[in-house]
Amino acid sequence: MTLSFTYQGSAARIVFANGASANVGLWVEKLGCSRALVLTTPHQAADGRALSDRLGALSVGILAEASMHTPVEVTERAVARAAELAADCVVSLGGGSTTGLGKAMAYRTNIPQIVVPTTYAGSEVTNILGQTEGGRKTTVRHESIIPEIVIYDPALTLGLPVGMSVTSGLNAMAHAIEGLYAEDRNPVSSLMALEGLRAFADSLPDIVREPRNPEARSKALYGAWLCGTVLGAVGMALHHKICHTLGGSYDLPHAETHAVMLPHTAGFNASAAGEALSGAAEIFGGTIGGGLWDFAKSLGAPLTLHELGLEESDLDRAAEIAGQNPYYNPRPIDRASIRALLQAAWEGRRPD
Ligand code: NAD
Repeated sequence: MTLSFTYQGSAARIVFANGASANVGLWVEKLGCSRALVLTTPHQAADGRALSDRLGALSVGILAEASMHTPVEVTERAVARAAELAADCVVSLGGGSTTGLGKAMAYRTNIPQIVVPTTYAGSEVTNILGQTEGGRKTTVRHESIIPEIVIYDPALTLGLPVGMSVTSGLNAMAHAIEGLYAEDRNPVSSLMALEGLRAFADSLPDIVREPRNPEARSKALYGAWLCGTVLGAVGMALHHKICHTLGGSYDLPHAETHAVMLPHTAGFNASAAGEALSGAAEIFGGTIGGGLWDFAKSLGAPLTLHELGLEESDLDRAAEIAGQNPYYNPRPIDRASIRALLQAAWEGRRPD
């Protein structure tokens, strides 16, 4: 097969090192800024305050109001607060929800962003913003959304609870798996996807055994960067469509839903994308669906949609919504095949 592809690298500057978050001030100054507003969630408010204190005169304060699904009301409050304080950049400390708030502000005002990720979601390296208004989730892609600087400090992830580490890692891995069979994949995105999968295959078992293992934490965050970069670079398929449906219409938790669905969607697509998935299948021991399911089980990940709170009676409608406005998928889909896939995931059956 001869090669044919387009490739666009991300504009974000990546800084990766243990302890790197101690230098956030330096990066604020390198951006030409001097009045940073620190964003985080209520849960991470103490860490946000500590970061703001460390920034000293470079910080104008902290806004600890980020929440899941980036509600527009929160963004509007944050934009108003940033204007009141004459903030000239944001520092987003946290997971995908906090990153989402900074991106939503940048989309409206172009305010520069420094992101310090503390989960493996990968949002910090994409130009994608998901936000909700009146209970409806919409997604936009725009250059203004990409953060300028991402500071990966594995030391900040030592305390990420084991359960969240596992589901967040599987969430990241889903970006890589779908990247491998993306219609617009390129040699670089596929290399990054496989390297990201390998990083998680190596590190997540160690994190489960020893949550504060610095090498494992470093490797997992490296995997998160790689998998997030793949998400930002190429299109996603059936897996992400189903997870958006289950999150958006049934309020299922983001990372856990990805964790449950991944073995099923990968197994489903294996018959049409066997070659693209062969490297990943090798990493997980043979067949991709069964291999990922065994891996998730060994980590104690949730294995059923049932335990995430979805009712069996919701499956018909969920299959219908997931089949609407379909994304590209390597294997043709119809309502019945999505319904069968959801049933298997609801029950937690091991895919082939
Ligand atoms: P999250 O950001 O919602 O975090 C969950 C909870 O864990 C929060 O209370 C947070 O404060 C806490 N937390 C985060 N890091 C912690 C740490 N190290 N220690 C202790 N607690 C910690 O969860 P998430 O899975 O990172 O992000 C999910 C959100 O991100 C969803 O809304 C999803 O749609 C979005 N997302 C967007 C993209 C994109 O490209 N736009 C990509 C991935 C995810």
